Amino acid sequence: MPAEAANPVAYNLAVGDTRIPMNELVGHRLRFDFDGVIRCIHCDRKTKKSFNQGFCYPCFRKLAACDSCIMSPEKCHYHLGTCREPEWGERHCMVEHVVYLANSSGLKVGITRGTQVPTRWIDQGAVDAVPMLRVATRYLAGLVEVACKQHVADRTNWRAMLKGDVPELDLVTERSRILALIEDDLTGLRQQHGDDSLRVVDEAALGLAYPVETWPAKVKPHNLDKTPEVEGRLEGIKGQYLMLDTGVINIRKFTGYEVRFRVLD
Ligand SMILES: [Zn+2]
Repeated sequence: MPAEAANPVAYNLAVGDTRIPMNELVGHRLRFDFDGVIRCIHCDRKTKKSFNQGFCYPCFRKLAACDSCIMSPEKCHYHLGTCREPEWGERHCMVEHVVYLANSSGLKVGITRGTQVPTRWIDQGAVDAVPMLRVATRYLAGLVEVACKQHVADRTNWRAMLKGDVPELDLVTERSRILALIEDDLTGLRQQHGDDSLRVVDEAALGLAYPVETWPAKVKPHNLDKTPEVEGRLEGIKGQYLMLDTGVINIRKFTGYEVRFRVLD
């Protein structure tokens, strides 16, 4: 579900070759019918089950994008010569990354490729985010994140995020506080990896608003694997979730699923 950082965030749903502007559908009744076919988003072959949100099992085992070091970047093994796809690694991991603070369901730390700002923040449903450091590689970003994790969460509580249950935070103040707490870690990393490899930044925070009409009182996820027909009135969109009055759908989770989409009224 591609999105733009407008105010509020402008969502599009990719259906075949067209992109449906979703913000205008808030208030309308929608229907999704999953016909049981899942196609791998890499090789297009049919797969009974989706691995890592859209891949067939062979691709899941083969692609660098599906390796465990993507979830745990501090385990990057490119430097050992064992990257599953070194060229992919050079383009996606051996490039500048941003270590950021975000407020999605409270304060969290995260990392992303420089070019994925602010897409990554929107994906997580952050209402505010601020870059903290720019570093030379994904691996280094992972090491900084590990240092931060002793002081701040690295996960979003998606139920709280979807209820709009988010405390107000001054991320610029939080950034100074966390940077002070990890100062020794940063010194150590610079000694090992070079002074230029980690740069503290004072870039401005970005506030994000989402097209939400009604916040759900109870967050119940729809699962197309169990219930292939889903219907409901769209009450809002946040992160990768469509919030229907009958439950929420994590669109990202069903990447590669062949789904008929209809606007009922
Ligand atoms: Zn595949």
